Amino acid sequence: MGLHDENLRPGARVSAVPVSKIMAEAEPVIQLKGICKHYGSVVGVDHVDLSVRNGEFLTLLGPSGCGKSTLLRMIGGFETPTGGTVHLAGEDITGLPPQRRDVNMMFQDYALFPHMSVGQNIAYGLLMKGIRGMAAQDRVREALRLVGLEDKIDQRPHQLSGGQRQRIALARAIVREPKVLLLDEPLSALDAKLREQMQVELKHMQERLGITFIMVTHDQSEALVMSDRIVVMQAGNIAQDGTPEDLYERPASPYVANFIGTTNFLSAKLLSQEGTLAVVEVAGQKITISNAPVHLNGNTLQIGVRPEKARIVADGSAPGDNLLRGRVKENIYLGLGLRTVTELADGSLISTDTMLPRGIASHKHARPGDEVVISLEPHNIFLFEAGS
Ligand code: ADP
Ligand code: MG
Repeated sequence: MGLHDENLRPGARVSAVPVSKIMAEAEPVIQLKGICKHYGSVVGVDHVDLSVRNGEFLTLLGPSGCGKSTLLRMIGGFETPTGGTVHLAGEDITGLPPQRRDVNMMFQDYALFPHMSVGQNIAYGLLMKGIRGMAAQDRVREALRLVGLEDKIDQRPHQLSGGQRQRIALARAIVREPKVLLLDEPLSALDAKLREQMQVELKHMQERLGITFIMVTHDQSEALVMSDRIVVMQAGNIAQDGTPEDLYERPASPYVANFIGTTNFLSAKLLSQEGTLAVVEVAGQKITISNAPVHLNGNTLQIGVRPEKARIVADGSAPGDNLLRGRVKENIYLGLGLRTVTELADGSLISTDTMLPRGIASHKHARPGDEVVISLEPHNIFLFEAGS
C-alpha cells in the first residue's frame, strides 16, 4: 500500500505534511545505476549505484583522482557515461545535454564574467532559459537576498572579496531554481578561516533553499561539518556511504578509518571469536573487541583505535583487561589537547589524545621515557581483516 492509500483510508489520521511532499521526499531525486566512465584503460568511475534523496546535502569525499569530479560531471551532463544510467526525479536523463537538465553546476573557479556587474552575471543564467525583463530582475534580487549581498548588485566581481565572489557564484547557480545543485570543491579557493565560516553558511543556505546539494570535496572535516550523508570514494568505486557519524564511528574499512579522522592501526592475531565478541593479541597483550565483524577469515587482522578513545591510565588502576604497555616517545601539543605517542613492546606506535580543559600547565602527563599503560574499551576498537 502506498502512502497515498494510507492517507485516504476512512478514519486515517490526516498528516500535517502534504502527501505530495511525502511522495517527493520518498522518491530519489537522482538515481545512478551502474554508472561508469572509462578513459581508454583509465578507470574514472566504475559501476556506481547511488540514490540521492530530495533535499539532501550529499558529499562525495575521497583523495585526488578517485573519481569524484567525473561522477559529479556525469550527473550534470558535462561528461557522457561509458555505461549505466542517470535518472532525475524518475526520468532517464542519461542522454540529455546539461542545459536540458533541471540540474545546475557551481564551478570551482566561480567563472564570473569580469566585464559584467554582479546583477548581470546572475541574470545571465536566466537569459539562457529565456527569462528576461522584470521577471528576471525580481529573481536576481531574490537570489542576492538569499546570499546576503543585495547591495552588491551593481558592482563588478573584482570589487568583491573571495567570500563574496563565492556567494555570487552560488546566487547565479540557484537563480534558475534547479532541483539539484552540483558543487565541485566550492570552497577550495578560500583561505582557512573564511572556508570554515562559509561551510556553515553554505549548509544553512541549503537548508533554507531546500534544494538538493551534491558537493565534491577531498577535505574530510569539511564533509563532516556540512553533509547529511557522505559517500566515500576509492578508485572509482564507493568505499562507504553513510551519515558523518556512521563513517566516523563505524568505518567499513581501514581506508575509510584512515581517511576520516585519525586512527591508530596495530596488527593483531585472532585468538577466539564468539559472534561479535573477538579476542585478539596485540603487541603481546590480550585485547577484547565487542563489535567485531562476524565470520572473520584467517587470523591476521588489524585493529583500529581513535587517539581520543584510548586513555593513558595509572598502572594498577584499571582492571587487567584491554591494556597495552609501552614507553612514551613524545608529546605533541594540539591546543585543545595533548597527543602522546607511545611505543609498544613490538615496536609499533600508538597515539592517545588527552583533553586539556584547564591548560597544559596544570596538567600532569607522562613524559618521554615514562612507562605507561594504555586502556582500550572493547566497544571503541575497530577490527579489520588484513587487506580489507
Ligand atoms: P577527483 O575529482 O576525485 O580528483 P577525477 O574524477 O577528476 O578525480 O578523475 C578520476 C580519474 O579519471 C583520474 O585517474 C583521472 O586522471 C582520470 N580522468 C579524469 N578526466 C579525464 C580525462 N578527461 N581524460 C583522461 N583521464 C581522465
Ligand atoms: Mg576533482
